[in-house]
Amino acid sequence: MIVAMQDLATEAEVQNVVEHLMHLGFEVHRTTGVRQTILAAVGARREFDMRELEVLAGVQQVYRISAPYKLAGKSFRPEGTIVKFKNGVEVGGNAVVVMAGPCSVESREQMLAVAETVARSGAKVMRGGAFKPRSSPYSFQGMGVEGLKIMREAADQFGLLVISEVMEISQIDLMMPYIDIFQIGARNMQNFNLLREIGKVRKPALLKRGIAATLEELLLSAEYIMAGGNYDVILCERGIRTFESYTRNTMDISAIPVIKKLSHLPMAGDPSHGIGIRNKVPPMACAAVAAGADALLIEVHNNPDKALSDGAQSLYPEQFAKLMAQLKIIAPAVGRTIA
Ligand code: PEP
Ligand code: MN
Repeated sequence: MIVAMQDLATEAEVQNVVEHLMHLGFEVHRTTGVRQTILAAVGARREFDMRELEVLAGVQQVYRISAPYKLAGKSFRPEGTIVKFKNGVEVGGNAVVVMAGPCSVESREQMLAVAETVARSGAKVMRGGAFKPRSSPYSFQGMGVEGLKIMREAADQFGLLVISEVMEISQIDLMMPYIDIFQIGARNMQNFNLLREIGKVRKPALLKRGIAATLEELLLSAEYIMAGGNYDVILCERGIRTFESYTRNTMDISAIPVIKKLSHLPMAGDPSHGIGIRNKVPPMACAAVAAGADALLIEVHNNPDKALSDGAQSLYPEQFAKLMAQLKIIAPAVGRTIA
């Protein structure tokens, strides 16, 4: 932390700031220039509100040097985190992992058909919501545990892993036997009680960015999970809300290289929710891989026109096959492969 004092700050004001910093647990190194005093503070362990310092008399500006997220920050594991699964799939390594499937689990026939489709095209993980966070309480809310059983069966038949959204703490134990990755949705990114509980389980979590969350907030939410000892966290950009109304959300591709710089955690892209328009999902998926994404989450449905949720952004099986072929060309151009 660097505190730059105003040119006209008095010695008493400087001393007051030094005392505040020491009270917070910092060791303070003072540099007195011709006009300005600079205080370099190092070593405090606990978090505090920077504004406490900014409002002190004589302070011009406070600069944070170290990130407020310790476990999620790059320096915790500069070599990067690879989330490993029992079947040899790795997220965060050289190969980009594609997770694909419908928005919601709707029936056994649907899941078997989609599992076959996505596995044939090269996906390694099947997605599908059994508990759905819908904007309207009157929309389809998901099949619950029955849906999880169906998805596990379909995924196992085609050698796929399973990712599904957990919406509340009571669902964690119910989901444990059926899934490989807990998806934490955009709406729950700051459900800190849920994040803490996911921190206690020993199963990977994919944490989506909230619709109005900064990247720092996303990383602090990851910190909640990691603070509990669960270090297998995959972050995910899924579009944020902006003033643009043509697309469902604005897919913030820039989040991908920024997160890769700030954090050691793998970063995924979800272009389906990111843009929300079927024929624009493939170009955004390509862009996410070109930008350095470690995984993609893509909605695919065997009959999107009849889907119970997010049909308009779900790819037809042939579109998904074509996208996978394109990704296999793009990935090597940026030094990656498709898992
Ligand atoms: C989903 O993946 O279907 C979903 C509801 O995602 P999000 O939390 O990004 O809206
Ligand atoms: Mn969806």
